[in-house]
Amino acid sequence: MSVKEKDKYYIANTYGRFPIEIVSGKGSTVVDENGKEYIDMGSGIAVNIFGMCDEEWVSAVAKQLTTCQHTSNLYYSEPCVKLAELLCEKTGMKKVFFGNSGAEANEGAIKTARKYAFEKKGKDYYKILTLNNSFHGRTITTLAATGQDAFHNDFLPLTDGFVYTDANDIEMLKKTVAENKLAAIMFETVQGEGGVVPLTNEFVSAIKEICEKEDILMIVDEVQTGNGRTGKLYGYMHYGITPDIVTTAKGLGGGLPIGAVMFGEKTKDVLTSGTHGSTFGGNPIACAGAVNIVSRLTYGFLEDVNRKSKYIIKELENADGVKSVTGLGLMLGIETEKDAGEVIKICQENGVLPIKAKNKVRLLPPLNISDDELIKAIRVIKKAVKVD
Ligand SMILES: *Cc1c(COP(=O)(O)O)cnc(C)c1O
Repeated sequence: MSVKEKDKYYIANTYGRFPIEIVSGKGSTVVDENGKEYIDMGSGIAVNIFGMCDEEWVSAVAKQLTTCQHTSNLYYSEPCVKLAELLCEKTGMKKVFFGNSGAEANEGAIKTARKYAFEKKGKDYYKILTLNNSFHGRTITTLAATGQDAFHNDFLPLTDGFVYTDANDIEMLKKTVAENKLAAIMFETVQGEGGVVPLTNEFVSAIKEICEKEDILMIVDEVQTGNGRTGKLYGYMHYGITPDIVTTAKGLGGGLPIGAVMFGEKTKDVLTSGTHGSTFGGNPIACAGAVNIVSRLTYGFLEDVNRKSKYIIKELENADGVKSVTGLGLMLGIETEKDAGEVIKICQENGVLPIKAKNKVRLLPPLNISDDELIKAIRVIKKAVKVD
């Protein structure tokens, strides 16, 4: 049997995979089982932010791998401390909890919000408001947080205590807040899986005002938008807000599994000894890689991300067959006249790998993609979207 056949046979069929097996890569170029090269415009869903096998990252990871691969959280270990310090210095957040994925980070945020509200306001204030069309993960609780019925239906009952409101609708937000006893409001600054939909400044300001006035925690899910993806270190930095909790994962590890919950002043001491944990959380190898990644996301580097973003938007906005381009930085959604799946297929045939988000073609290239590769990829995408 081929890899594709064995995959179908032995791996739970939860993924609709593209008909391509990726075997290797370098930077923004990946290579399939036949040696065909592609320009990667998906980065393993916003994970490989310095592309495939980036030398600096590989060397940081390899050094740690041959020194100490795991300690458990029963002992002190330097890499996770370094990463936490770096994240706090760069964001102004106060403390960090490490896990292994986006869903696990969001679980940690939700537990923290419940404990905070229970201690401050009593047992009735446990609800968490999230947005329709959001995506927060695949566990039973983060599915409940995810405001899309399509993900819920087969798994009811989900964890109790989530209410939903429409993104960018301030009236509905205020009404939903007034009708519920809330512990927190949780949102993505750009809804990724929901179709690359950015929140408006007005809407985020309204959330900020409500959270401050009512002592409701503001949780920003930066699993996809974080780590330079939107052209700022974290997406919330576009909006002039100071969240109480920030979760992140995907790009943080540059290709190794890691998730983080960052706590602000109000929440930094909510989780106490024995109230939360994770065996692999803060794994030295993942953290050593992440230290390398985060330390390279400098102001100058992010300016270059924004320059590339402007180039893509300028090229695609008025292109033949494009209805709209949404998103921030190198997290962009293209609404096309053609079916998005069809556009992606044509791109793949021509050596470019974009991905999908709802009905849009989604671009999440490595943040350090070269101008040369970017120009080539956009040329292919422009041809693919064209209605002939
Ligand atoms: C991908 C994603 C998650 C889930 O992350 P996993 O690592 O797959 O658990 C949660 N929130 C957002 C915004 C995401 O994009």
